[in-house]
Amino acid sequence: MLIFDAHLDLAMNALEWNRDLRRPLDEIRQREKGMTDKPDRGNATVSFPEMRRGGIGLCVATQIARYVEPGNPLPGWHSPEQAWAQTQGQLAWYRAMEECGQMVQIKDATGLAKHLRLWEAAVQASAGPRPQDHGLSVPIGYILSLEGADSIITPKHLERSYAQGLRAVGPAHYGPGTYAQGTDATGGLGQRGRELLKEMERLGIILDVSHLCDESFWEALDHFQGRLWASHSNCRALVPHMRQFSDEQIKVLIERGAVIGSALDAWMLVPGWVRGKTTPESAGLKLERLVDHIDHICQLAGNARHCGIGSDLDGAFGREQTPVETIADLPRLVMMLSAREYSTEHIELIMHGNFVRFLKEIGA
Ligand SMILES: [Zn+2]
Repeated sequence: MLIFDAHLDLAMNALEWNRDLRRPLDEIRQREKGMTDKPDRGNATVSFPEMRRGGIGLCVATQIARYVEPGNPLPGWHSPEQAWAQTQGQLAWYRAMEECGQMVQIKDATGLAKHLRLWEAAVQASAGPRPQDHGLSVPIGYILSLEGADSIITPKHLERSYAQGLRAVGPAHYGPGTYAQGTDATGGLGQRGRELLKEMERLGIILDVSHLCDESFWEALDHFQGRLWASHSNCRALVPHMRQFSDEQIKVLIERGAVIGSALDAWMLVPGWVRGKTTPESAGLKLERLVDHIDHICQLAGNARHCGIGSDLDGAFGREQTPVETIADLPRLVMMLSAREYSTEHIELIMHGNFVRFLKEIGA
C-alpha cells in the first residue's frame, strides 16, 4: 500500500547532518559512529532505499531555517537573509536529487496524478509490494513545505518560493518566530503574521498549523480562509503538552476539512518521556501507540477522513526516540489498524488517501 508521509526534513538531514540519503541506512549509520554533535548520530531511520522498501512513495519535504534574535537560546541564524540562503541551499539539494532521478517535485494536480500512476505501475511491474526488491528505481514524489517562516524576508520571497514549488507553510517552529509563535512560546501573530497569511491565501499556499502555540493557532484560523492541514501533530488528550492538539482544536480542524498527520517522535506518543533519558526499551514503546492517536482523531471525527501519517522520523531524532527501527516499518500500521477493525478502505485513507484527496481538492 502506498504510504504518504506528510512530514520529513530530508534536506536538513542531507545538509546539516551530512547524510547522503541515497545510501543504505547501515552505511549512513556506520559513517556517524563516534560522532556526538547531534542527539541521533548513528541512529538514522530514513533513507531513500528504506522509503522505497516501505512503500513511502510520496511525502511532504521541508525547508527549515530559524532566525534568532539576540538572547534567543535556540539554534538559528542571526539574520533572515542567512535563513533564506539556508533554505535556498536546501532547495538546491532537492533539485540535485531530482536531477539524479531520486525525487520528483509535485506542484500541481497533473504532476500528482502522473506520479501516482508511475508508482502504481512500478509496484505492479515488480510483481510484489516492494519495487526496489526487483531492482526498480522509482523517484520519490515530494511536496515542498516550509517549517517555520522566519526565512521569508519579505512577501515577495514567498511569491518566489511559490514559483519554486512551495505549497505549504508552517509559520512557526520551536520558540518565538517572525510571523507566529511556536512550540514552547506564547503569543499571537502580530501584523507581519497576518500579512503573511494574507499572501499565503492569495497564492493558494496551505497553512500548516503544526507547531503553532494556542494563541497563534486560534488567531491564524480566524485570519486565514484558505486550506489548512497539520503535517505532524498528535493528541493532547493522550499526551498533555502544548505541542499537541486539544480535542477542541482537532474538532475545528475537522470542520475546516484538515488532515492531521500523526507523528512518531516518542515524547509525543506516550506521556512521561524524558528526552535523552527514556529509551524505547525502558518505556516498552510500541508503534501501536501511534494508532492510539490516529484512532482518537477518528473517534472525534466520527470517520477516518482526517487522519494521516506525518512521521517526522528524521526530525533530529532517530531510533533512540521512536518505536521503529526504520521508516520501512510504517506498513506495519496496516495490520494494526486492521486489528482494530478498520476496513481496508479506511486504512487506505489513513495511509495516503486523505492527504492525496486534500491535494487533489486544491489542485496542488
Ligand atoms: Zn516539527
